[in-house]
Amino acid sequence: MNKYDSGTISQILLNKGYEQTPHIQDAHIIIINTCSVREKAEAKALTFTGRLSSLKRLRPDMIVGVIGCVAQEKGMSLFQRFPSLDLVLGPRNIYRIDEYLSRIQRGGERICALDIAADPLLFPRYNGHVRGKVTSFLKIMEGCDNFCSYCVVPYVRGRERSLPAKEIFDEATHLVSNGIKEITLIGQNVNSYNIRNSGSPKFPGLLRQLDSITGLMRLRFTTSHPKDFSEELIDCFGELSSLCPHIHLPIQSGSDKVLQLMNRGYTKESYISVIERIRKTRPDIAITSDLIVGFPGEMDEDFEESLQLIEEIQFDNLFSFKYSERPHTKATQFPGKVEGKEKQRRLSVLQERQREITLLKNMALEGTIQEVLVEGAGKRESDQSTGRTPGNKVVNFSAKDDLKGHLVKVRIVKGLQNSLLGELRDI
Ligand code: SAM
Ligand code: SF4
Repeated sequence: MNKYDSGTISQILLNKGYEQTPHIQDAHIIIINTCSVREKAEAKALTFTGRLSSLKRLRPDMIVGVIGCVAQEKGMSLFQRFPSLDLVLGPRNIYRIDEYLSRIQRGGERICALDIAADPLLFPRYNGHVRGKVTSFLKIMEGCDNFCSYCVVPYVRGRERSLPAKEIFDEATHLVSNGIKEITLIGQNVNSYNIRNSGSPKFPGLLRQLDSITGLMRLRFTTSHPKDFSEELIDCFGELSSLCPHIHLPIQSGSDKVLQLMNRGYTKESYISVIERIRKTRPDIAITSDLIVGFPGEMDEDFEESLQLIEEIQFDNLFSFKYSERPHTKATQFPGKVEGKEKQRRLSVLQERQREITLLKNMALEGTIQEVLVEGAGKRESDQSTGRTPGNKVVNFSAKDDLKGHLVKVRIVKGLQNSLLGELRDI
């Protein structure tokens, strides 16, 4: 989401005639986009902001802004902490950044905009920031109404708002006409699109509309919430030719007790049932998930249930995190805090087992022919190309020609821990 927001800002500024520079010391404007989902990300962003002060002393005309979730959370206090800071914008206020920059340039004022109810974008057209790229994100909603007891998102990104389907369709068409072959729809819970309002279409209807765009080879979406995963959405995996067989469906815990404390709105049983139905519709589907260890009240036996769950489901990949206490959230008041060392132990055990499962999953693809969308040159060897399978796995293979943007057939020769090695079959 933050990557996407940064792209939006780049586009707004490109439209105003600014250029991007790869050298920070040459920049007239530096915007730091921040994440506050976990404490570590927040700390990193603030350390980086502090380091820019010395650059600003050398270049006083430079404008420095902190935007995003940390900006929303800390607000004006950032001006006290960083006297050289010019701009603080919450995630719902980034769309007017050009106007704020002009005001700062004209009058030397400092601006802080934190209206959490502000309407999210309409898209800044032209899409120069995706030039030369094959894949793109496309935001379809902003905010979240779920209030999971550990999560800061509803407090920093505000209430859920779905963007108009017509705008999304036009933006997708525009991206495709700018060379994009694969679009990933993004939002905190994309499958909740228009679900709690009278708006139409709902998420499956939106997917159907986008599937009709000529030239759009692949459609993906992330993240989905298990409690809003409808039958109609499952059917889309059997029906829509552009929809890739991959879902990212965060489980968060394998213990019903912990899921309830987390306020997730589903049980382990109902999660497994969704997975079974998706696998029945699309047996080749790749499934990835998120899981938190060390949530307050998570006992050894609850953690064991998380381990059993990953054994039972066999995720293709898992993003796992130590519980991090976040401001405003209900879980900060919960008893049964898990000690740091124990959280780390649980994380290591979980990650080690998942690494084995991921490797076996990747090795199981050896000998198969995969359709790969080529995204560009690989990093390792000069003739190497890289792309992704429909299941979202990275494949590296040798190719003499520049195949960027093409769908090619690749035979998988080796399944590695984080990628696949392949052999080009035809063009
Ligand atoms: N909306 C998505 C969902 O409900 O699954 C996830 C969005 S959240 C920004 C991304 C992931 O960060 C979550 O799935 C969760 O695993 C993790 N996360 C969020 N808050 C956390 C916290 N306080 N401590 C550790 N991990 C956290
Ligand atoms: Fe956070 Fe829960 Fe909303 Fe996901 S659904 S963004 S975890 S509050």
